[in-house]
Formats: sequence, C-alpha cells, structure tokens
Amino acid sequence: MEGLADRIPPEAVQRLCESKRLVVLTGAGVSAESGVPTFRGKEGLWKNHRPEQLATPQAFEKDPELVWDWYHWRRNTVREASPNPAHYAIAELERKIPAFALVTQNVDGLHLRAGSEKVLEIHGDLHHARCSKCSDVVALEEQAGLVICELCGGHMRPNVVWFGENLDVRLLEEAFVASRASDFLIVAGTSNIVQPAASLAYEALGNDGYVLEINLDPTPLTGSASATVLGKAGEILGELVKMAWPEEH
Ligand code: NAD
Ligand code: ZN
Repeated sequence: MEGLADRIPPEAVQRLCESKRLVVLTGAGVSAESGVPTFRGKEGLWKNHRPEQLATPQAFEKDPELVWDWYHWRRNTVREASPNPAHYAIAELERKIPAFALVTQNVDGLHLRAGSEKVLEIHGDLHHARCSKCSDVVALEEQAGLVICELCGGHMRPNVVWFGENLDVRLLEEAFVASRASDFLIVAGTSNIVQPAASLAYEALGNDGYVLEINLDPTPLTGSASATVLGKAGEILGELVKMAWPEEH
C-alpha cells in the first residue's frame, strides 16, 4: 500500500531543505482538523444562514445582532479548539528557514497559538473588534455584547474582512513581496478561488519558485503548481517536515 511518504515528491523535499525564502499560504482547510468548520463544507451552515449572507457589510447594517451572534459562536468554537499538526509543522518551518512569511486567510488565531510569529492575517481575526467609524481596534472579552466605541461612539464590528471589502493594503503588499521573492511556497487548505490570496502562488511561480499545494481535492491552482499532494494538511505537512529534516525527528 502507498504510504504518506510516497505521495510527497522527492524534489519537493529536496527544494524545501535548501530553501532560503519560504512563504506558506493557508486557508480554512488547515484548521479543519482542529474541528473549525470551513465555509464551503456542510458544517459551514449556522442556524440556516449561509456565511455569504452573514459575512457582509450589508448583513451587519441590516441586523448587527445576528452577525455578532454568529461571530461570538465562531469565536467560542475556536477557543475550544486546539492547533493541529499542520499548525505545528508550519511553526517549525519558520524556525528552520531564514526568511519566512506565513500568509493566512484564517481568522481563528490558531497559527499564533501554535507558536508561529510572522503571521500576516490578511482577512483579520475573530478575537478583536474594530470601530466602524474611527477604526480603533479592541480585544474582545469572552461575553462581549454589541459594543459601542469608547472613543467616538461608533458601532464596533468584528475585525475581519467581509465579502466585498478591501484587504489591508500594507499587509497585502508584504504578502506579495514575500511571495515574489520566495524560492518555495506552500499553499495548504485553501480553495484558491478567493482573490487576491489566490494570486500569490503565481508570483512565486513567475520567479522560478517551487509551489507545493496540499489539499483534500484539486483546485484551480492544481494544474499550475509544481506539485500537488492530495490529503489532510496535518498529515502531509507533518510528514514533509520529517522527510526534510529526518535527523531531528
Ligand atoms: P477556503 O476557500 O480556503 O476552502 C477550504 C479548502 O480546504 C477547500 O479547498 C478544501 O478542499 C480544503 N480542505 C478541507 N479540509 C482540509 C484538510 N483537512 N486538509 C487540507 N485541505 C482541506 O475556505 P472557506 O471555508 O471556503 O472560507 C473562505 C474564507 O472564510 C477564508 O479564507 C476565511 O477568511 C474565512 N474562514 C476562516 C476560517 C478559520 O479561520 N478557520 C474558517 C472558515 C472560513
Ligand atoms: Zn470609534
């Protein structure tokens, strides 16, 4: 029977060992093994609402309490979850490769809890609220209700990027610069359909970088990536790190 190690191309292992500039891009699939639902899976539904109906500025304007309830529920789900081997393998990669950047579309904070330090949370995070008027950011307490900004009286909103909103330009620029300069880029657990994150792999490819994709299923990137390994991010990333630095495992 084919083992995990047989699914990872030797060239990927070799290039990873030699990498001096690594970028890792993650999506909701990386947290799936921690029990955090993805949007597009069956478990993405909440009280018969689709995420696309809740994660928008229009939904917040229409029914802020409903949207806050959903975010409180998501934040509690994440608090009860723990990082999985995918998060830990990525944190280990950061300690091994001289220039490293982790670009995540996840808002759950699990990368930071696993020990990653250089994390670009390009879609924001669940653990803070932001004033919709003056942009002041505050940490959310466990039982936070619908809060009003202490500075200007504006409505506080979740500190996340909603469908149809722009990403933080500075973070995005950093992600593009790092991807363009990378010699190796790992794309794990993302469907590669949400822009602009889906473009980062092409920046690396355009500069002769090696792009390794890890996903349960093929994505629009699959035909262009240097290699795609189908499987669970936690298993594959854990095995990849072991194969690249066998003496330490
Ligand atoms: P997505 O578009 O990144 O899709 C998830 C991908 O992960 C799919 O391609 C799926 O095949 C793959 N996948 C699922 N389980 C996997 C596993 N164990 N190993 C490897 N791959 C796996 O994510 P989405 O759920 O459609 O969400 C879109 C956006 O919504 C995210 O970018 C994020 O901003 C937000 N979101 C965040 C979280 C989180 O923070 N954990 C969860 C859901 C949604
Ligand atoms: Zn304010």
